[in-house]
Amino acid sequence: MRKNVFIYTYGCQMNVHDSEKMIGVLSEGGYTAVGSPGEADLIIFNTCAIRAKAEQKFFSQLGRIKSLKNKNKNLKIAVAGCVAQETKRGIFKRAPYVDLVFGPQNIGALNTLLEQNKHLFVEENPDLAENEFSTARDSSLRAWVSVMYGCNNFCSYCIVPYTRGKEISRPSSSVLAEIRDLHGRGYKEVTLLGQNVNSYRSDMNFPGLLRQIGAIGIDRVRFMTSHPRDMSPELVEAIAELPNVCEHMHLPLQSGSDRILHLMNRGYTLSDYHRKIDILRERVPGIAITGDIIVGFPGETEADYQLTLDAIRDIEYDGLFAFMYSKREGTSAYSLDNQLSEPEKTERLNNLLKIQEEITERKNSLLDGTVIEVLIEGLAENDAAFLSGRSRTNKVVILPDGGERSGEIVNVGITRTRMHSLEGIRTDRKITRSSS
Ligand code: SF4
Repeated sequence: MRKNVFIYTYGCQMNVHDSEKMIGVLSEGGYTAVGSPGEADLIIFNTCAIRAKAEQKFFSQLGRIKSLKNKNKNLKIAVAGCVAQETKRGIFKRAPYVDLVFGPQNIGALNTLLEQNKHLFVEENPDLAENEFSTARDSSLRAWVSVMYGCNNFCSYCIVPYTRGKEISRPSSSVLAEIRDLHGRGYKEVTLLGQNVNSYRSDMNFPGLLRQIGAIGIDRVRFMTSHPRDMSPELVEAIAELPNVCEHMHLPLQSGSDRILHLMNRGYTLSDYHRKIDILRERVPGIAITGDIIVGFPGETEADYQLTLDAIRDIEYDGLFAFMYSKREGTSAYSLDNQLSEPEKTERLNNLLKIQEEITERKNSLLDGTVIEVLIEGLAENDAAFLSGRSRTNKVVILPDGGERSGEIVNVGITRTRMHSLEGIRTDRKITRSSS
């Protein structure tokens, strides 16, 4: 008998992709994905523990769903992802109506786990990297591909090494086989996923893997996330030389103060970081650089904060993800003195975002009048007369619908720029060199 599953997904791309894997695995066990929890026989919460807010959001949603068990006696509720791995059996204490708790390493065994007893918790899985998953992908153009799992870095604020476990790289043969299959099925773009892709190690390193992937011929290759310490000259050369690797680098800085970077256990200084992006910009003209910043790390003084603002003004990111420090139990920064108040952190964050907005707008305005390559993704959200696509630098581009199909790659002359998107018209003109 077929059953229905609904998944709540919180947090990062790893979780989005893990949910695709869960649906793929469950469909082999007779489940069909549905659009609302009310229709489901199984509800999974794929959780995020990176910030206290994400965790609170999950627990309040979990509380709201409890009443569905009275309506459907066979309904099972499962908690997956980082909160599951972090809180373990504690979830059953807080929510005894939960049937199963499993960490990110046990998706492959989901059907078997569901047949077993109530209140089951599943520990780490040493065979994770060897697992092959049936994956129900959300898009037929762009695909996530895991290349490694876990993280060994132990940045002092971060819970991920505790929830996702030690770094394990997938065998290159299995990554390459997955991408060959995606290419054969008409996918245009892959994004290689890992907490720290630059430390990928199997029978080859990450630049070696990129070269092998480049040879498959898929149109666009992206990857995330990179750690500045591990970004090698060899990687920069691979990006510069391989035509399918997109000109976009997401390189989290986290702070512009060397003192704070040291407390964060990041393993680089601001000038190391500057050197890396100088080389990137020199070797890959037009590359877009995005980053992450955490404001309000314990003990961050006004002077430290000003150094971060100076850094973002100097670097001129194409886009920035900025967050307030969130205290996570179990991490080494948890017990640091001088925690900043919420209003202080909020003010610092808002001020920083305002500065970055001006930079993003200015950087996008430099693209006015240039010609860029766009992968058409489908109809624009707000107006069916327009199409939406993405540049190689990962910027959203809107153009009039001239009958182009999703997956088509076209040249677009940019006629207007905004903070979150570019607008243009299809053109036969050549790509502007060193544009985004
Ligand atoms: S590199 Fe640092 S911030 Fe990123 S997942 Fe690992 S510990 Fe967390």
